[in-house]
Amino acid sequence: MTIVVAPGTTLGALQRQPLLDPVDQRILVCHALGVTRTALITQSERVLSEEEALRITQLLQRREHGEPVAYLVGSREFFGLPFETTPAVLIPRPDTELLVELALERLPPTGRVLDLGTGSGAIAVAIAHTRPDADVSALDVSTEALAVAQRNAQRNGARVRFLHSDWFAAVAGEKFDLIVSNPPYIASGDRHLDEGDLRFEPSGALTDFADGLSALRQLVQDAPRHAHPGAWLLMEHGYDQAEAVRGLLSSAGYTEVASWQDLAGIQRVSGGRVPG
Ligand code: GLN
Repeated sequence: MTIVVAPGTTLGALQRQPLLDPVDQRILVCHALGVTRTALITQSERVLSEEEALRITQLLQRREHGEPVAYLVGSREFFGLPFETTPAVLIPRPDTELLVELALERLPPTGRVLDLGTGSGAIAVAIAHTRPDADVSALDVSTEALAVAQRNAQRNGARVRFLHSDWFAAVAGEKFDLIVSNPPYIASGDRHLDEGDLRFEPSGALTDFADGLSALRQLVQDAPRHAHPGAWLLMEHGYDQAEAVRGLLSSAGYTEVASWQDLAGIQRVSGGRVPG
């Protein structure tokens, strides 16, 4: 079934008979018409022109074929801030706000923070926006992602130093007070990669093309060289990886190793303090 919105349809009629998920549709219709959610109610008698009906049809069809809403409208809210989202970056997820909260609780005054694999810049920008005293650096191997991240810092008035880097390469010799990362952690071949929004997201942001733990392993191994003793390393990981990640941290001599639950009650972030 292909979605078609006919010219002459009223906004009210469109709302009463949604052609796809009503929340998705509402966001897409607002985006297509450049109106607020309230306008959909107050302008329920508004009749769609040919051009408007076509614009809405095209967006709804793309959604019907699976394209993520965040890419179709080009933005997503994270930590109460607007973030540009293009197919060059992973769409910021509410789960990741846990990582930001844990980081903020552990960041010393004027502390130096490093975000590895920053993508849209969501984590780094949220930290820098909340704590203007912090000295935040963020890196990514994707120059396209860095361009998006840079615009997101600007848009939110956050001061972040962005670096093009394969993991720690560009910060050799530097030491940080806090290291955070939401690395690719889905194992290659995992069926989730072929489902929902993930099909449209950059695969390098999702999977390590290995067992799912290789990026996490590398972070645990290399962080001590780039952190002051006692600094926290905090990493997001998959729903079933908490025990394995705590194991990596403990074997490497980290202290106060722990995992924390996201809003869904899943252990989503693990971390520890870098050994001295
Ligand atoms: N949280 C994402 C998902 O499972 C994956 C993000 C990542 O690999 N860092 O949908």
